[in-house]
Amino acid sequence: MYIVQIASEYAGVAKVGGLADVVQGLSRELSIRGHHVEVILPKYDVMKSDRVWGLTKAYSDLWVPYHHFWVHCDVYFGHVDGVKCFFIEPHFFKNFFSRGLIYGHKDDPERFAFFSKAALEFMLKTNKHPDVIHVHDWQTGLVPLMLCETYRGFGMTHPRVCYTIHNIHHQGTTGEFVLRQIGLNPASYMTMERLLDPRYPNAVNIMKGGIVFSNFVTTVSPTYMNEIMWTGLGHNLQEVLQYYRGKCGGVLNGLDYAEWNPEVDRFIPHNYSPNSIDVKYKNKEALRNRFWLRQEYKPIIAVVSRLDHQKGVGLIRHALFYALANGCQFVLLGTSPDAGINQDFWNLKRQLNDNPDCHLELGFDEGLSHLIFAGSDMVLIPSAFEPCGLTQLIGLKYGTVPVVRRTGGLADTVFDANYADKPYYDRNGYVFNDLNSEGLESALRRAIGMWFHYPRHWRELMQNGMRQDHSWNYPAQDYVNIYEHIREK
Ligand code: ADP
Repeated sequence: MYIVQIASEYAGVAKVGGLADVVQGLSRELSIRGHHVEVILPKYDVMKSDRVWGLTKAYSDLWVPYHHFWVHCDVYFGHVDGVKCFFIEPHFFKNFFSRGLIYGHKDDPERFAFFSKAALEFMLKTNKHPDVIHVHDWQTGLVPLMLCETYRGFGMTHPRVCYTIHNIHHQGTTGEFVLRQIGLNPASYMTMERLLDPRYPNAVNIMKGGIVFSNFVTTVSPTYMNEIMWTGLGHNLQEVLQYYRGKCGGVLNGLDYAEWNPEVDRFIPHNYSPNSIDVKYKNKEALRNRFWLRQEYKPIIAVVSRLDHQKGVGLIRHALFYALANGCQFVLLGTSPDAGINQDFWNLKRQLNDNPDCHLELGFDEGLSHLIFAGSDMVLIPSAFEPCGLTQLIGLKYGTVPVVRRTGGLADTVFDANYADKPYYDRNGYVFNDLNSEGLESALRRAIGMWFHYPRHWRELMQNGMRQDHSWNYPAQDYVNIYEHIREK
């Protein structure tokens, strides 16, 4: 099958969050399976060009109609981990992608509406007629609309569109001028059935457009799809999703085992597997040495996370003191874009600076995160909501037992050691329901008790997780099934 991914992020080259990992992991797995995969991305000034093999200018005659201009773009081509990637570079006084940041500008909707238009224009000019175009999050939510309403008229009648929602919290709400800029008449689209935002009168909701105009809509876990459709987590798009439920489904993300595998991980001092689990404890020793923690018979509880309200910062703080009061060690690696939260954790760090059982590392450090997963006994994820979540999947692969709140992808991947309706060999962690300190303690207490008093059972729990397959193998097949389902026969 011929598949084109259009996205705003790609792991290794331009990454802000999990979206980048999904586009990269899925594209690579589909390529390995023999599908013809191409990825179209913006050419950011901050992208890591050294990760693109053979980056060259491939097309320099792309003129994109935009508002009352024609914007000249160059298109670069190169391989990332064997996958064909195109990077669009507009030459325009607004410098859409040369601003030192991927997101965070006031005109983000304009920037990505332009990118969506340019990607389609590039496909039209170069005669690309894939079976499926796969687009992601609000940034590329206007692609299905423009394909249906504009580009089908230019002969692009073959491609079908799959739209993936990675986080419904961000919907790309903007003004109708954005439609005018990409050549659409707002009067035709500013209706409740189409793009009108359910909350703000006269606002355009780009994600809604993605849902309405695509052939299939996915989220990054089945539980998250259920939550955004039927519980209060839909951020006002629940009724749209309910209306289109016949074309909606959840596909759990995979984890890139080329990056995350304790048997071959280049960031950790001692590699190990489910059959050599004792070697993991050498990494625990290394982690303690790195953080000046004392070497004592205690479990290490870890948090590796963005520090924001989605991730349950209040509960992370509570867990820290609960762990210390119950004979455990606690390590945290995290950053926060929120100044208040950042300050709070810096204060905590100063307060606990001399504690031999605790270390807070406030920053982003990929290599260190690998050592923490390899050297800790538990990873804590008390999220308020979690579309999929990667850290629990990493924890499972590294024999680091996840303690999580039952929401989104966490509910689909972590099964409680005591209460899950699963056979014992499938149980792999601890789960709590209520987003409060009692809920958190109910799971942590059981996990800590098991670690101290039933080491043999704990080991089984670790091995159960390590043996589960959360690679891209199954999710890629799920996407292929969806592509087959929607493609024009
Ligand atoms: P989200 O995409 O919502 O931030 P995910 O769990 O899906 O959360 O993915 C987070 C990824 O970022 C994981 O691979 C995690 O290890 C990594 N990560 C988060 N914070 C840090 C940090 N401070 N340093 C290094 N890696 C981090």
